[in-house]
Amino acid sequence: MADAGVDAVLLSLGADLPWLSGYEAMPLERLTLLVVPSDAPATMVVPRLEAPRVESDDNVFSLRPWAETDDPVAIVADLVGSRSHLAISDRTWATFLLALQTALPAASWIRASLVTGPLRAVKDAAEVSALAAASRAADRVASALLAGEIALIGRSEAQVSADLGRRLVDEGHDKVNFAIVGSGPNSASPHHQPAGRWIGPGEAVVCDFGGTMAGYCSDITRTVVTGEPAPEFSELYGVLQSAQADAVASARIGVTCEQVDAAARAPITDAGFGDAFLHRTGHGIGLEEHEDPYIVVGNASTLVAGHAFSVEPGIYLDGRFGARIEDIVVTEGGGPRLLNTADRGLTVVEA
Ligand code: ZN
Ligand code: ZN
Ligand code: ZN
Repeated sequence: MADAGVDAVLLSLGADLPWLSGYEAMPLERLTLLVVPSDAPATMVVPRLEAPRVESDDNVFSLRPWAETDDPVAIVADLVGSRSHLAISDRTWATFLLALQTALPAASWIRASLVTGPLRAVKDAAEVSALAAASRAADRVASALLAGEIALIGRSEAQVSADLGRRLVDEGHDKVNFAIVGSGPNSASPHHQPAGRWIGPGEAVVCDFGGTMAGYCSDITRTVVTGEPAPEFSELYGVLQSAQADAVASARIGVTCEQVDAAARAPITDAGFGDAFLHRTGHGIGLEEHEDPYIVVGNASTLVAGHAFSVEPGIYLDGRFGARIEDIVVTEGGGPRLLNTADRGLTVVEA
């Protein structure tokens, strides 16, 4: 907080609150807000009917339950007092922020992720093992896909997506966050919404799926072909696979995020596909699917031990086909550690 020039952090919806307190607020019209002043103990303002679900420890924060007829915004304003440089959860509902701005007219506001983002980006050992367990579970689903255990030909993208999701849960995930399946020309759309298109033989199929397991997220992409690939696709895939491997290998402590992006981008650009790699190389992952650090041009922050993020370059030829390969990587003293190990070679799935 001192580094960010902040007098108090106010946490409501989003992952910051459970990260710091162990309690995840329901997205309700009733306000839950943890007030963390830089110079005084923290207090969680919580609806009285939700209070029994909070495990509080007076050494960490105290509880301030409010009754149905109380004004929680006035309670927060009172706790904030004369502190005027405030940071608030990025995902706090506008309705609460507007009320707080009225109640605290002298305050200036920044988003809480400016304080919490760099802290949450560095995972401790328990967090890394939770991420590794979620990645292993996603790997088992990816390996089933590569082994042809998930039928593709003659099924719709939506059916394959549902199958991937079911398998994530069978492998221990509590929740499926997404299961993108893009086949044929749809493989050239990075965030394609799986729909009724029937998958045919000889097509590229991009499968990008992940969920949450014991609080931490998985996220993996594998691209397969349903029959002998066109030579042009094989060439594209070869460029992509070596670009992804180069980027993973570059992800060492002290390297900047944009250098990792450049390591993926250079070989793709050299091969003439520069314009077809139309997104950043990766994103941090933890309690949320997308969080700091972002592996993107312009992010000059350096990797430190415990950073966890995706490396997921893609090449997309509009209207024809595309491919993406994605793994989760953790920077460690000995070099980058890949949490995903499912095979990355171009795999023909004639199922
Ligand atoms: Zn994505
Ligand atoms: Zn993904
Ligand atoms: Zn991703």
